[in-house]
Amino acid sequence: MKILVINCGSSSLKYQLIDSDSEQVLAKGICERIKIDGVLNHTASGKDKINVEAPMPDHNAAVKLVIDALLDSEHGVIQSLDEIDAVGHRVVHGGEKFAASVIVNDEVLKAIEECNDLAPLHNPANLIGIEACRTLMPDIPNVVVFDTAFHQTMPKEAYIYGLPYSYYEKYKIRRYGFHGTSHSFVSAKTIELLDKPKEDTKVIVCHLGGGASICAVQGGRSIDTSMGMTPLEGIVMGTRSGSIDPAIIEYIAKKENKSIDEIMNILNKESGVMGISGRSSDFRDIDEGIRNGEERSKIAFSVFCYQAAKIIGGYVAAMNGVDAISFTAGIGENDSAVRAAVCERLTYLGITLDKEANKKRGELTQISTADSKVKVFVVPTNEELAIARETLAFIGNQ
Ligand code: ADP
Repeated sequence: MKILVINCGSSSLKYQLIDSDSEQVLAKGICERIKIDGVLNHTASGKDKINVEAPMPDHNAAVKLVIDALLDSEHGVIQSLDEIDAVGHRVVHGGEKFAASVIVNDEVLKAIEECNDLAPLHNPANLIGIEACRTLMPDIPNVVVFDTAFHQTMPKEAYIYGLPYSYYEKYKIRRYGFHGTSHSFVSAKTIELLDKPKEDTKVIVCHLGGGASICAVQGGRSIDTSMGMTPLEGIVMGTRSGSIDPAIIEYIAKKENKSIDEIMNILNKESGVMGISGRSSDFRDIDEGIRNGEERSKIAFSVFCYQAAKIIGGYVAAMNGVDAISFTAGIGENDSAVRAAVCERLTYLGITLDKEANKKRGELTQISTADSKVKVFVVPTNEELAIARETLAFIGNQ
């Protein structure tokens, strides 16, 4: 079967066509600058990459171009749309309504729309992508896979904030958590590597990329995670502040005469590793800054690793133990210095890193020594494949 995976943002649309039998990517690409001018980057497996500049006044136009590229006689990979069995969509926020993926119908779309307030930058764009696929491929089923769904198993003690309870009841203000598809994929892979029944396993997944979140997975279920009602909470990230004292917002507002909107923009886009280092949000640049002896790059690096280790320590307490810690996403898969610095703070758990194995990048590797009390792995994430698998499972169950 062939599954088209769509990740639709407000001005971009990423896609992959995945053969679900071999789990190979047949074609992938990205439409950028939707509603501005429009560029499509498309690569079919075994063929040259192409760049198409074409007007994309809306997301329908972008989906149309993706379809044309997939069908193209030279650069395409299918002869007819009938070859696509289903479309799997990434949707950021499913609120409390969705604890699992679901097949799209009018009711589901309405329920997703009701979550728009919780993710105003992402959900409306995700919905537009679904609508465009329904319009242009009316006979192909659409399945939505939520970033929040995996965390719906969290107990109340993990998701209730210390606010008047009426805010939870009236506005659903609570921890939701994100990167759920990745945490689910990576924790499942990690559990396979453990010599224990799934119900007894305690795993911590560190998804460290441009956005970063850590998740405690007990018996295969998320029991806590560091992102909150929005992806701003948790550890310091590329440009996001992560958790700060909420009173800082009022303080900056008064000192700098700024509105809440302006401050939220600073917390989301100008803070984190970027804000601390003054250099970059990208860890490759931070590592270079450290090699050049730049003090603020060193601080950014230490704050990031310290906060990650502190959250891991908290989750060991939450689960009363841990069997394995897995690192994933851009930084987690590639930056051995970050992994080493985080694990150095966890030697009290009996963790010992295998220095040679920790040099590896981007491949499934055990980086702890054979006698380490807690296993440590690098587990490459693959959110698109996870979405394709979820979609397939759904279609298979119909
Ligand atoms: P996203 O931005 O969607 O979270 P990724 O998970 O791919 O995407 O993470 C991107 C980040 O990963 C980059 O901003 C960078 O900080 C980090 N990264 C990517 N490659 C490397 C590398 N070779 N060494 C260190 N960090 C890397």
